[in-house]
Amino acid sequence: MNSLSKENLNQSVQYVKSVGPKRADSFAKVGINTIHDLLLFFPSRHLDRTTVLTAAKAFCYLINGYDGELTVIGKVVDVESKRFGKREILKVQFRDSTGFFECIWFQGAKYFKSVFNEEQVFAVSSKPEKSKFGALQFVHPDFDRITEEEEKNFLHTGKIIPFYKIPKELRTQKIGDLSIRRIINYAVEKYAGELEETLPEKIIKENKLLNINEAVKNFHFPVSTEKLESAKIRFKFEELFYLELIVALRKNYYQTRLSGNSMQIKTTLISDFLKVLPFELTNAQLKVLGEIKNDMLSEKPMNRLLQGDVGCGKTVVSLIAMLIAIDNKFQAAIMAPTEILADQHAKNISVMMNNLAEKFTKRKIKVSLLIGGQKKSEREKRLQEIELQEADIIVGTHALFEEKVKFKNLGFVVIDEQHRFGVRQRARFQSKGNQPDVLVMSATPIPRTLSLTLYGDLDVSVINEMPKDRKSVKTVLRSDNKLPEIFKFISEKSKEGYQSFIVYPLVEDSEKLELKAAETYYKELRTSHLKNLKLGLIHGRMSWQEKEEKMIFFLKKEFDVLISTTVIEVGIDIPDANIILLNDAHRFGLSQLHQLRGRVGRGSKQAYCILVTKNKIAKFNSNEYISLDYLSSAQIEKYKSAIRLQTMVNTNNGFEIAETDLKLRGPGDIFGTKQSGFPELKHVDLVKDTELIIKAKKIAFEIIKQDPSLELDSNKMIRKNLTTSYSDNIKFSTVA
Ligand code: ADP
Ligand code: MG
Repeated sequence: MNSLSKENLNQSVQYVKSVGPKRADSFAKVGINTIHDLLLFFPSRHLDRTTVLTAAKAFCYLINGYDGELTVIGKVVDVESKRFGKREILKVQFRDSTGFFECIWFQGAKYFKSVFNEEQVFAVSSKPEKSKFGALQFVHPDFDRITEEEEKNFLHTGKIIPFYKIPKELRTQKIGDLSIRRIINYAVEKYAGELEETLPEKIIKENKLLNINEAVKNFHFPVSTEKLESAKIRFKFEELFYLELIVALRKNYYQTRLSGNSMQIKTTLISDFLKVLPFELTNAQLKVLGEIKNDMLSEKPMNRLLQGDVGCGKTVVSLIAMLIAIDNKFQAAIMAPTEILADQHAKNISVMMNNLAEKFTKRKIKVSLLIGGQKKSEREKRLQEIELQEADIIVGTHALFEEKVKFKNLGFVVIDEQHRFGVRQRARFQSKGNQPDVLVMSATPIPRTLSLTLYGDLDVSVINEMPKDRKSVKTVLRSDNKLPEIFKFISEKSKEGYQSFIVYPLVEDSEKLELKAAETYYKELRTSHLKNLKLGLIHGRMSWQEKEEKMIFFLKKEFDVLISTTVIEVGIDIPDANIILLNDAHRFGLSQLHQLRGRVGRGSKQAYCILVTKNKIAKFNSNEYISLDYLSSAQIEKYKSAIRLQTMVNTNNGFEIAETDLKLRGPGDIFGTKQSGFPELKHVDLVKDTELIIKAKKIAFEIIKQDPSLELDSNKMIRKNLTTSYSDNIKFSTVA
């Protein structure tokens, strides 16, 4: 590619016909500065002749009970609005060559009235309905304006029309569906041929991909549905290819920076510890311990993800790994996402270490807790212990990151509940020691597509087995008018030694309101339904000392019931708490619900999870089983909360729950994408594009295996692209 053409593409978008300086300013506001940017501003969807029906045909569909969405095109023949008191209703009449149809708006009539003018042509998409007078009707449909010329072209030549999501910054400059199409059409005709290829020739050939020029042209103005599909695949592939290159580079980077910490099993510390452990490890725990141990014994630094459903016993596995490090005269640290969880870990580990010291007098292992809310003197003491290696196991929160924290000899790091931490944080932690081995633990099973992408730089170990004699939690969904009966159940069960959590969701993200809600319920329950029980209250506005105190009271059974906001969400382990009641359960996210349910069922008693929700949702759920596979994205959006609750009732399997969660959240909202340090995915659907992910991964890993620094001539282009377009994402790689 010669430099002249590159200059063309780097020109301001203002030089594209009918843009000019003023509109260029608006384009700049939405990140479109150059002609190149404009070419890569792709349509959000297309209108394809094969999916459009005539009015007459659509009417037949309606009569035959068709229940899906469909699209018709018509010319506006009448716009009529009617007032009913305060309310204004808008009815727009359309016709095509076969008949009439109408669209109705019950809201926003004033606005829509200004959108539809007689003689204009629109494509209208929605579920068809029958009006009072038996006519074909669409209520609040999606619609797109098209020109008459486009309509003819489209119907007769089978053209496919693009639609762009037009940001309001452009709309205010009077750039609508028609003008954006004209502007982009001009840019594509004139400049798309000059785009420089961003994928290696060989890869394009071998995978039968469209080259960038063809792909851009066909993404905007496809010559056929097949070409449109190919264009999309090309951009998906490109996105995944570079993502996987980054993954491969990172993995390579970790693996080649030898820690030199090849540890050994030096003493009987581990076997002594196993003797004081009150239970036998499950086979799955033993298996992953083997994998972890291998990493620790080798010179290769460990970067391992330990996955396992809530309650499977990850903590004890990580503790044994920490003891291996201590056996080798290193310090080990475990970082938890909340103070209360860090506190609990510190307590549990201390108890176990004391048991160990009682039985084996030489084995005095010191545990230190470092969290944000500590008193200054306390904190100074802890910092000193850490710096002098008086502390062997350091438990903490984010506070462990702080500069003041200086480990004398950190050899092993555990990060609990991984999804809250990103790669940057991991790296920062690693820099605090001499290339310590890192184990990250996640209670949320990670769907396969994510472990291939966002977590692809980690080795993965899975605990797929629960400790023996665990009964699975019984989950039920109840409408809130059943609360009195539920409270009765809680009272009855407390006579059998059951303890209960009663959880209220965060109200509008406000801590103040949260406090108020929890306190109000606490006072109310104490004097009414649960007046015969001992109640405790815990919420996010308490200091960690207060929270700790409440948790200890609860653990010691001084409360029968702990009323709580979501502060108890992660990791907390109270063996006799076997009922959890979640109020307004529809407000919780799916993985949050699963986490919360994981707070019970940790002993051998039958545990219960009671999801309480509005009558409407509870009823919806009892009526029918909804399968995600048969719902449109609009329907998924509508029934999200009901589906979440139904999923909870139907399964205890964390893996299934994570898959459903991913489907419900959609590709745009993958947890932690931003903090993961990976580029944002614009084209790929992490739920549906599994095969393409696997393919891109294979190709990318192969390239990095052969040429880890991307120095070969054939990889020059890749290197250049990575360093220019992905410079933010390659910090932890051998190319940086
Ligand atoms: P998670 O994996 O969710 O972090 P924990 O590590 O908190 O789970 O373990 C849950 C409970 O199970 C703890 O009380 C722990 O002591 C207990 N536990 C762990 N491993 C076993 C085992 N092999 N047999 C019986 N109980 C176990
Ligand atoms: Mg845990």
